[in-house]
Amino acid sequence: MSHGRPGHRVRAFRASTPPDVARKRLWSGARVRKLLRRRGSVPTPTPVPDASSPPGSPDARDASVKRILPCMLAMALAAPGLAAQRGASGADAPPMDGRALVDRAERMQDMDDAGALRLLDRALPLLTAPADRPLRMRALGLRCWSLASTAEAPAVVRAAEHGMAEAARAGDARAVADLRVCRGYASSEAGALDAAAADYDFGAAEGRRLGDARLLADASVFRGELRYYRGEMAGGLEDFKQAYGLYRRLGNAGRQRYTLIDIANLYADARVADYDRAIEYYRQVLEANRAAGLGEGVSTAYYNLGSTYESKGDLAGALGYYRRALELEQRAGDAGEAAYTQRSIGIVLAKQGRPAQALGWFGQALAHFDRAGDAERGAQARLSRAVALDKLGRWTEALADLETARARFEKPRNARFLERVHAERALAFAGLGDWRHAFEARTAQLDLQRELAERLKEEHTSRLRVQFDTEKKEAENRALLRENRLRGQALADGARIRALQTAVIALGFGIVAVLAWLVFKHVAAERRMRTMALTDELTRLPNRRHLLALADEGLHDARRQAAPFSVLALDVDHFKRVNDEHGHDVGDEVLRRVAAACRAALREGDHVGRTGGEEFVVVLPRTDAARALEVAERLRGAVEGLDWDEVAPGLRVTLSVGVAERTPADAGFGEVSKRADDSLYRAKAGGRNRVDLAGV
Ligand code: GH3
Ligand code: MG
Ligand code: MG
Repeated sequence: MSHGRPGHRVRAFRASTPPDVARKRLWSGARVRKLLRRRGSVPTPTPVPDASSPPGSPDARDASVKRILPCMLAMALAAPGLAAQRGASGADAPPMDGRALVDRAERMQDMDDAGALRLLDRALPLLTAPADRPLRMRALGLRCWSLASTAEAPAVVRAAEHGMAEAARAGDARAVADLRVCRGYASSEAGALDAAAADYDFGAAEGRRLGDARLLADASVFRGELRYYRGEMAGGLEDFKQAYGLYRRLGNAGRQRYTLIDIANLYADARVADYDRAIEYYRQVLEANRAAGLGEGVSTAYYNLGSTYESKGDLAGALGYYRRALELEQRAGDAGEAAYTQRSIGIVLAKQGRPAQALGWFGQALAHFDRAGDAERGAQARLSRAVALDKLGRWTEALADLETARARFEKPRNARFLERVHAERALAFAGLGDWRHAFEARTAQLDLQRELAERLKEEHTSRLRVQFDTEKKEAENRALLRENRLRGQALADGARIRALQTAVIALGFGIVAVLAWLVFKHVAAERRMRTMALTDELTRLPNRRHLLALADEGLHDARRQAAPFSVLALDVDHFKRVNDEHGHDVGDEVLRRVAAACRAALREGDHVGRTGGEEFVVVLPRTDAARALEVAERLRGAVEGLDWDEVAPGLRVTLSVGVAERTPADAGFGEVSKRADDSLYRAKAGGRNRVDLAGV
């Protein structure tokens, strides 16, 4: 049965922490916290709760005291002028103005809180002018924190509330919040944890609202420690990390170190047991303290690393760090720290199966504890030594140590240590063959075990809660990530849909455009086809079919309106000769030019078309025979007057024209046309290049 340093058992901080221990821890924490509040460069603060020993055990309490001490020492070193200041602040000191008093009180606070309190009580009545208001608010805050380490919690709460009321009247929200954090601290000291939490929450919220990083960071650290104390590890960690980031932004190296230790302690806690991470953070603390030249901080960091390695089960690693811590403590002449570390070394050696070597270390530690009259630590060391003695079969010596330890642990009663004492006693009595006492010791041990098992149940619950908290946070984060991913996906989907819509719309427009184009092409083609169907290709005049249609229409209109209507039949004279003498191409050109000349010589509403090879017909609506004769003559003259030099030198082209006007007896266009043809024939016969009018 191992009596090594605890850490292999799960223990709940709250469940197993006697109120006096909790108070002492907080009180210790308060001092450190106040040191930190006032001084950015304050060295290694206390680990609250401590990493190597489960909180609540005497080990833990000692460890936390142990870790405060270097802090206080470093403070003393860091403020060499304080003794002189303290002298100057006495009652016989020369009179000082309000500001000087407050400044001095701030500097001496934490070293001599009672003295600081006296200075502040002198300063406050002087600070009544409106211009002094900010200074007065600062003094009220300082006074509250000084009271917190000198007065009982209710008095601190009262002072904080007076200050809060005054700050509220002055409209100083920051001072109100600072004082509320101080009240919260006092409340936590008095065990009113819910009230404390509410004040810290308020401080944090105000820090956020006012954009005051320092206030937010301070409130976060306090709240984090409270959450940690209550076993709300995930929430505590979140607060610590937030405070750490803020202190880093503020360039406050001392508080960064302090917060880092909080974080490391949390990870090293048996309820979290993330030892590797704790080690990583303790190493950072170690480096920070080394860089800041804080020797005590360095040795404490070594000790914390040793105890975390021990918790992790890496005994060789633990031993290495404990030895380094011891070396520094001895060099600094700190016998109390050294003795505590010596005991830790002995425990590790015993765990390693080297009880004989362990005895030497226990002997050294005990020599100091006995000399210093430290009965508590002496009892712990004796219990540890008894384990080694049992292993060596030195039963009688073991029993002597165990009896001393038992007396100590029974008043006040410490069940956990007593349980171990009885277990070792049973072993020792059995070794001696004293079965009756062995049985009695065993029975006592079992009773205590049952009692402890009850607590363990609560501790399990606590651990489960930690796990749950952490897992819940992680699940929340995962959910958030998932949600973001989904939202991103939705956005992408939306974008895709919009792109698709755009594409569809574009496509729609495209299709419509293509259709329109096709329709247009179709219509154009149709128009072209129709034009082609109605137009003579050579002369671009209406062809025969078209002209007949136009003529029918014109004749119909004429009949309806009882208007005159005439027709001309044109034929190029001796055209065969043109072809024969000048070629077919010249013949074509002659036809084109004759057509153009005829069209140009007609008015709007008259129609000329090509009805055969070199034959044309002209339709003249609303034109009687006399007018038609004139038109015929004009056309004949126009063609006769054409200049053919550039087409074929010496070429001469003439027209013969037959004219006919419709008569009421005409059944259709064919009859009128026929008479025009007859006239044309007469014109030809009459010698060509002339006009002939059909008789009626
Ligand atoms: P007339 O004075 O009696 O009308 O004599 P003509 O030679 O004009 O009459 P004829 O009917 O004997 O000859 C018509 C000629 O027109 C026959 C043909 O080769 C020619 N012709 C018909 N269509 C075209 C054409 O599109 N281009 C060309 N170059 N010649 C054509
Ligand atoms: Mg002809
Ligand atoms: Mg002819």
